[in-house]
Amino acid sequence: MANHEPKHPNSVLLPFMAPGHIIPMIDMAKLLAKRGVDVTIIVTHLDAARFSSVIHRAVESGLSIRLLKIRFPCEEAGLPPGCESIELLPSYNLVPNFFAATNMLQKPLEKMLIEIAPTPSCIICDKHLSWTAETCNKFQIPRIIFDGMSCFTQLVTHNIYLSKIHQTVPPNEPFVVPGLPDRIEFTRLQLPGLFNPGPTDLIDVREQVMKTELQAYGVVINSFEEVENRYVDEFRKLKNGRVWCVGPLSRYSSGDLGIRGGIQASIDYDQCLKWLDERERGSVVYACLGSLGRLSPPQFMELALGLEASHHPFILVMQGGERLVEVERWISDEGIEERCRERGLFVRGWAPQVLILSHPGVGAFLTHCGWNSTLEGISAGLPMITWPIFADQFLNEKLVVQVLETGVRVGARGIVYLGEEEKPEINVTRDEVKEAVRRVMDEREDGCERKERARKLGEMAKRSVEEGGSEALAQRGPVSRYMARVASTNGATFRLPLLAGRLRQRR
Ligand code: UDP
Repeated sequence: MANHEPKHPNSVLLPFMAPGHIIPMIDMAKLLAKRGVDVTIIVTHLDAARFSSVIHRAVESGLSIRLLKIRFPCEEAGLPPGCESIELLPSYNLVPNFFAATNMLQKPLEKMLIEIAPTPSCIICDKHLSWTAETCNKFQIPRIIFDGMSCFTQLVTHNIYLSKIHQTVPPNEPFVVPGLPDRIEFTRLQLPGLFNPGPTDLIDVREQVMKTELQAYGVVINSFEEVENRYVDEFRKLKNGRVWCVGPLSRYSSGDLGIRGGIQASIDYDQCLKWLDERERGSVVYACLGSLGRLSPPQFMELALGLEASHHPFILVMQGGERLVEVERWISDEGIEERCRERGLFVRGWAPQVLILSHPGVGAFLTHCGWNSTLEGISAGLPMITWPIFADQFLNEKLVVQVLETGVRVGARGIVYLGEEEKPEINVTRDEVKEAVRRVMDEREDGCERKERARKLGEMAKRSVEEGGSEALAQRGPVSRYMARVASTNGATFRLPLLAGRLRQRR
């Protein structure tokens, strides 16, 4: 292993291959590099192509970021060629193969690590790449994990996992999660796959992720203290202080908003901004249900009809590969796009989400509550209409609706696994969409107060990444203590990803 003394702290970033995981990691690379860290980010060939222009711009602006490519073994894992990112899988049944492919990255990654000089100060990796625990152990490099979820989700998951409370009640009966700062209820049907497995067998993968998570040196969270402070405190206690909230990471995208996702947006930005400019301030509902296109065609139709019935201007983003064919047919038969021509913008494929959310014409965000989207909505100071579908999304909905009181549910009742979308008991209706939009856009007491709370959170989000904001965060103790300890682990003068700039100034 190369063992030169580093001039700067250097960090290797290893994202999981899904837009919701890699996008915040790319933002994190910029944050670290701005703080004087030499960053190496290792991605598949597909993601290298997607993100090379973002990285190129960062490098041009003087940031030390290097992109290394690793071959994703589609063929060996039984995946169709080019399926290097989870949203590209043609079927949910291939998810185990996808994880098998990610496991095959261990050997080539270790080979790369031998060649990376100087030895990395730390590796920040997605927790779903559980083999990195063994690798970091072997190379004696601190492993810091990132999984793109909130402290609220981390704490809820931990407490349910320990208590097994969900096993004591029928699947659709609510239970109170023990040990939380608030009285929070869920049904088992709303919980992520660890507690509520779908038809695909991922038990081993999940258990392995849980086990190796416990061995990690620390956790980086895309969040900021004020948005979930009591949950940050509790989670930090659990992790002996080694929890850093470095978000909202989307705020490090300024200048790149158009190309942030690495995927070419399907709509011309100027056209999109012009359309928004022509609407009244705060009048538009922006509706996007994430990068994975998990809403079934019939549910998408209910969403579109609900938005139409709300009489508010809207932007509706349509993802979903092959499923879009059915939706397109419906749109044309129904004539909805034509009917809503004056006030509805249908975006097919990737939308410049953060750019849209920051436009003053937007008044609310209808979201599936992926954590990135949730935090982007919070940062934009917007009230939200929540339609969780799977994973941690019901947990994020709970944070927004009950704890922050900035959202209204459309009324989704439980996780929908692919192939189960037609179950009537979990379906949302157009009337529910219309009613949720009405409540959020309402100018009377309830709606006004909700908007005001959302606006204040947006202000806090801005402050948290302003000059001094992160510094203040860093001075809160655990961060600097952690950094010092990392330094001693590797025996170098400084190993401090987030504080590098500050430390150098002090010397
Ligand atoms: N996103 C986007 N345009 C789209 C769809 C998604 O920019 O058309 C971005 C969005 O801003 C967020 C990420 O993709 O940063 C989605 O992550 P999230 O955690 O919200 O949901 P996921 O897609 O992982 O379910």
